[in-house]
Amino acid sequence: MKRVDVAIVGAGITGVLTARELCARTPTRSIVVVESGDLAGGASRRSAGLHFPRGATPRARAFASYSHDYYAQLLADHPSWPLFQLDVSVVAGAARAPVLSERYLDHARLVRGGDPHPLVNLPADSAVWQGTGCHYADVPALTRLLAGQLRDRVELREGVAVIGLSPDREGCTLRLSTGGTIRAGRVVLAPGPWLHTGPWKDMVAPLGARVKKIVALHIDQRPVAGDPVLVFDDEDAFLLPMVQRGYWLFSYTCQEWDVSPDTVSASLSSRNVAEARDLLRRYAPHLRATATSGRVFCDAYSPQGAPLVEPLDPAGRVVFAGAASGSGYRFAPATAAAVADLLTP
Ligand SMILES: Cc1cc2nc3c(=O)[nH]c(=O)nc-3n(C[C@H](O)[C@H](O)[C@H](O)COP(=O)(O)OP(=O)(O)OC[C@H]3O[C@@H](n4cnc5c(N)ncnc54)[C@H](O)[C@@H]3O)c2cc1C
Repeated sequence: MKRVDVAIVGAGITGVLTARELCARTPTRSIVVVESGDLAGGASRRSAGLHFPRGATPRARAFASYSHDYYAQLLADHPSWPLFQLDVSVVAGAARAPVLSERYLDHARLVRGGDPHPLVNLPADSAVWQGTGCHYADVPALTRLLAGQLRDRVELREGVAVIGLSPDREGCTLRLSTGGTIRAGRVVLAPGPWLHTGPWKDMVAPLGARVKKIVALHIDQRPVAGDPVLVFDDEDAFLLPMVQRGYWLFSYTCQEWDVSPDTVSASLSSRNVAEARDLLRRYAPHLRATATSGRVFCDAYSPQGAPLVEPLDPAGRVVFAGAASGSGYRFAPATAAAVADLLTP
């Protein structure tokens, strides 16, 4: 039986950044990351990777602020890594000014005024705010780069599923699909949307997290360098200029709940396309015809929207980290830090 200080289940952006944070705080700690599929093969693979300095609750704002500084430092340390800085142009009902000033952090330097972006048809009673401080990342590529740096300090087992989890007062035993076992002092569960399918499902159920489909359309129109991300705040939707990929990505809030990552279709449905085009009709009508492709997956959502970092057993041997409600990339550094706070004496 292998023995480690910490076993992390799931090698998406949350699991990998958690391993990085734990290593940074206690370099001598032995860590294994167990991943049933490929590194960054879950929700992280499909992520649009948008970070904006915004949060709907005080906890979300604290997480967003921490992550903002973390990613800024990461980019300063690794200027060639796939993080691409952006300004932001927010469209919202004029009456929502107080909500915006509460939700957007100072990092965004949001100021009302200026012209809407040429793609945007400003609805009646709406106004425009301009700001900065956003970026988007190639999340799977970034996750692989981060994991690559950890290889000599962290054991990463890909293609190995955790099929049993038995915590006790001194630690936790993990049973693996390969037939082996790992005995860990602490276990961090970072399973993304697989929170109801693993051997942890009964332990996780009281958290009240649910899994929702996420849909983003790829708009077949080339953005140019300097285009800002266009946020339609009333709808929780955005148009992201993916300059390196040569298209705009339109993300809207799909309301298909309680899907499973193992069965959710990777294909856009006619309903998804119709919903997206309906919103585009309001904000950018001439893009509707070019919204013909996209990406579909799902993510775990917490009851309050901000990520959950919670011990699941009386001895605190198993900690859940995730359910970041479609914002797991932008919250991941803060989630990892919150896990490390729990695990570091
Ligand atoms: C289309 C789309 C667009 C998105 N856009 C954004 C965005 O713009 N900004 C943003 O911040 N967030 C966005 N998100 C959300 C974000 O991508 C996710 O919240 C984030 O990637 C979750 O990362 P994770 O590491 O927690 O989970 P995942 O990346 O899903 O990783 C979990 C891993 O656990 C593994 N696993 C599961 N069960 C087991 C088991 N039994 N044993 C071992 N391993 C197991 C899985 O294989 C998986 O690799 C988007 C998501 C989608 C789907």
